[in-house]
Amino acid sequence: MKKARNVEVLIVGAGPVGLFAALILARRGVDVEIIDSQAHGSAHSYALTVHSQTLGMLEEYGLLEQVLQGARKVSRIDYFQGRNRTGGIDLRSTSLRIPYVAVVGQNHLEAVLEDALEQAGVRVQWKHRAAQVKQDADRVYVSGDELEESVIGYAVAHGEGIVRRRREYTASLLLGADGYNSFVRRSLNIAFPEVGSPEDYAVFQFDTLCGECDAVQIVEKEGLVNVRWPIGANGCRWTFELAGEGTPPEYLRRKDPNLVQRIDHTATGPLDEARLQELLAERVPWCPAKVENEYWNLWARFERRLAERFGEGRVWLAGDAGHLSAPVGVQSMNVGLTEVCDLAERLAEVVNTGASLETLEAYNEDRLSEWSFLQGLNGGLEPMPGAEPALVDTRARLLSWLPASGPDLEVFAGALGFKLSGWSPRPRAEKAKSGAA
Ligand SMILES: Cc1cc2nc3c(=O)[nH]c(=O)nc-3n(C[C@H](O)[C@H](O)[C@H](O)COP(=O)(O)OP(=O)(O)OC[C@H]3O[C@@H](n4cnc5c(N)ncnc54)[C@H](O)[C@@H]3O)c2cc1C
Repeated sequence: MKKARNVEVLIVGAGPVGLFAALILARRGVDVEIIDSQAHGSAHSYALTVHSQTLGMLEEYGLLEQVLQGARKVSRIDYFQGRNRTGGIDLRSTSLRIPYVAVVGQNHLEAVLEDALEQAGVRVQWKHRAAQVKQDADRVYVSGDELEESVIGYAVAHGEGIVRRRREYTASLLLGADGYNSFVRRSLNIAFPEVGSPEDYAVFQFDTLCGECDAVQIVEKEGLVNVRWPIGANGCRWTFELAGEGTPPEYLRRKDPNLVQRIDHTATGPLDEARLQELLAERVPWCPAKVENEYWNLWARFERRLAERFGEGRVWLAGDAGHLSAPVGVQSMNVGLTEVCDLAERLAEVVNTGASLETLEAYNEDRLSEWSFLQGLNGGLEPMPGAEPALVDTRARLLSWLPASGPDLEVFAGALGFKLSGWSPRPRAEKAKSGAA
């Protein structure tokens, strides 16, 4: 039998969260291996925005300039009820050191992280799938499959593996950054209950002749939220919350088990250009968007879930493996990046200084408290005198409509006349080490 590969930290999942963790660990001199069942990095731009706090963290790792290449910096977020503007946040008049969010595709962010990781001497082991995870007091044991690729599906391509050979790993610590259906989480038998109703959205990304809107617009109409993100020079993404349309039509579901589909703009169906025009006319008739060139559209269901724990012993979770949330504030990916930065720094301490595994229990408590707050299970936004009544009416959801994380949430909430109640963000200690391992 082939000898197991022995590493200090094994990471399962090379999405943005796993890649960032691998980079931090490599820069701290930890022997790290990262595996992913896909054939290569993501080619999609799902999560579209990097928060100001995340940009600061990427700056500490010397990655800000690369991430901003091709990004649109947006400093204003406007809130509407129907056609009435109910509030706005101008980041240039706040105390934020980086007074903008960066609208940039998730695929670009992942490419920057993967390049930096390669420069730090670590290559992602694509086409490697974790198939068994066990731990004892001293080590973690992982069996994996090295896959031959055969891509199925026509829209969201995903690999369906034929196993080429079996791989064995032993590691001092394991990080599961393997997304919403996390195999690592399931191996630990950690429950992943729903903590709120799922939300369905239609997403359209297109070029537009309207160059006037340099702000993010968040429009609540009859209990549904609609969001416009400006992209690049002429582009935008409109995301419309859907109600009463139930599950997606069968033909959208059958090729991809992920309940997320993309269809070509030439396809006929519920999300063709006519439906886009209809939604624009119904929800934002005052918006002068003229569709020039529709790139893509999709139907997506965003579930709201929170893991009962973020790991145990030597096996820990971060990112979508531990939480799923609604898309408007782009909190899933951004908070995932912040939490994995904390986790990776703790893992490095365990490996490099022999710190106790107790430090990982503290990580668990911090995550549960932060996500209970973000998911509205504990505390929320408390209006201050003078807060706009229309915003007060939506405050249960408003928290998840703030494109901010960590201490920045206080700044965003304050600009709209609210304070945080039930959770206090802790400033992150700056511990970056930008030199390669
Ligand atoms: C249509 C759509 C729109 C979205 N829009 C937004 C948005 O507006 N705002 C927002 O914040 N978020 C959004 N998201 C969510 C965002 O994409 C996720 O939050 C983000 O990708 C999570 O990153 P992650 O690294 O935790 O997990 P992922 O990006 O899911 O990466 C997990 C990785 O683990 C790998 N993996 C899984 N199982 C195994 C295994 N057994 N062995 C090896 N590898 C494995 C997968 O191949 C994958 O590459 C959107 C998602 C979708 C689908």
